[in-house]
Amino acid sequence: MSKGQEKHQKRLNELLMLGKDLARRAHSKCELCGATGVSLAAYEVPPAPVQPDIDKTLFICSVCTEQIKNPKRMDAHHWHCLSAAVWSTTPAVQVVAVRMLKRLLDREGWAEDLYDQLYLESEVQQWVEESE
Ligand SMILES: [Zn+2]
Repeated sequence: MSKGQEKHQKRLNELLMLGKDLARRAHSKCELCGATGVSLAAYEVPPAPVQPDIDKTLFICSVCTEQIKNPKRMDAHHWHCLSAAVWSTTPAVQVVAVRMLKRLLDREGWAEDLYDQLYLESEVQQWVEESE
């Protein structure tokens, strides 16, 4: 195994160890769209910390993960869930929700209305703006 692969594997293992705590926090629901009965996986909020950190990781479904990673495949309909997620008390959830909402601003009237109502703590606002 190469050094790079080893590092990658180590990180995956560390993320797996967060799984139980993530599941407890998420109550077995996708933390973004609230889907239940689907498999959930850890998603590290970029920029990823040096060590995997539960406060910087989401536990979300494959539909959300797929569309976060492929902006071109974003289905605006799926993201109506953001109207709840942007008010999450988990900052990492809020950050990703706001980032996704920003992608919809030019396309969706409801997204603009929601964005106008947002009030973000300054740390959260700063984190939103840190590279995506
Ligand atoms: Zn989801």
